[in-house]
Amino acid sequence: MTINTIVKQPFCTDDHDPTSLSAGQALERILAAIVPLAADAVERLPLRQALDRVLAAPIVAEINVPPLDNSAMDGYALNGDDLPAQGVRRLTVVGDSFAGHPFLGSCQQGECVRIMTGAVLPAGLNTVIPQEHVECIDSSTIRIDAQTRCGDNVRAAGEDICQGQTVLAKGRRITAADLGLLASLGIADVVVTRRLRVAFLTTGDELRSVGESLKPGQIYDSNRYTLYAMLSHQHCLISDLGVVRDDPTALRIVLQQAALDHDVIISSGGVSVGAADHVGQVFSELGDVNFWKVAMKPGRPLIFGYLQQSLFFGLPGNPVAVMVSFSQFVQPALQRLAGETVALPLLLRAVTTSTLRKRAGRTEYQRGILNQAADGSLTVSKTGAQGSGILLSMSLANCFIVLQAEQTRLEVGAEVLVQPFAGWI
Ligand code: AMP
Ligand code: MG
Repeated sequence: MTINTIVKQPFCTDDHDPTSLSAGQALERILAAIVPLAADAVERLPLRQALDRVLAAPIVAEINVPPLDNSAMDGYALNGDDLPAQGVRRLTVVGDSFAGHPFLGSCQQGECVRIMTGAVLPAGLNTVIPQEHVECIDSSTIRIDAQTRCGDNVRAAGEDICQGQTVLAKGRRITAADLGLLASLGIADVVVTRRLRVAFLTTGDELRSVGESLKPGQIYDSNRYTLYAMLSHQHCLISDLGVVRDDPTALRIVLQQAALDHDVIISSGGVSVGAADHVGQVFSELGDVNFWKVAMKPGRPLIFGYLQQSLFFGLPGNPVAVMVSFSQFVQPALQRLAGETVALPLLLRAVTTSTLRKRAGRTEYQRGILNQAADGSLTVSKTGAQGSGILLSMSLANCFIVLQAEQTRLEVGAEVLVQPFAGWI
């Protein structure tokens, strides 16, 4: 009998591979596997240092904001009962209330107080007439008409925040606005989860570091820089373990050592099935593999699991694949581990102005430039060649064009989903 076919194995460019998880399933598996840091893995930080850190406990307001009723305008504070129902009324000005210098006296019927924005409303007064709506007769007499309503132009005590109100939830990453909010409550320090200790390494005998010269067949190690940058934006304590040779023994030693004192270990390269790809083999000997393939492009070979107490991500070596898989999986994993509430990335609809080539079977993260037309509609174009090693395609991009697994070629004018880059990509 003539044998005219050969027996093949699944290949990483195959588009349909039943052993791969979908990107969504992979993320679910990752989030389900992670136990957030223990409740005592926290530190108390002064406000400014807490920016971008994750709150370990909710923040409850102990005071009202604003603390007292105050004026929203420069004008005259009065009692609403003194407002004329119609026509004009004359009032006597008995004092001033400035921000930081309240009027401490009291007002009788027919009396008012000159008041500035932010100044406390004197006792018994409940309305402010803007100074533009007042006729000044002399320094102690004004005339008002029926234009103003009782209660106008007053900011009530507790209007922004009520005493006892939860203003920030546990698990929130503290923003610039949050810092201001905390300061407005008089809170000088907050309890946040400790920074994650993250080690990363790159693998490959071809890799040289910047500053070294290249021999034939060698390339510069760029993943070390993108990984460093993305981890920096997550405020991790970073250990750069350098380039590890394509040698199982060297890899074993580095991984075992890293697992002693890191929450997360990230490697790049060597996760495919080539003769120099040892990460999968070594990791499966040392740790617990949760999964090792995702139906996505770029970034299919991707190992996730635990190495003793450390989370392990074996990312692919291709520079774009590293960034895509970090953004889709590592970043949410770091959030979960740090106790942060994980928010799904924003997906927007945009019309493509490029033809997008794709085969069915894998979710693709093509690199795009999202634009807004004058009418407010969104368009997206791809950033040139989309090879998973072409880092320029990432550098030019401001979004991923997320093409669903079963989508195929898309013509100009088709609607696609885009994921704008967060500031840290
Ligand atoms: P690998 O996954 O190790 O087979 O690597 C896939 C491709 O990415 C190869 O062309 C590698 O040379 C390249 N590559 C791997 N690691 C890096 C790195 N750290 N920096 C730049 N390119 C890399
Ligand atoms: Mg390699």
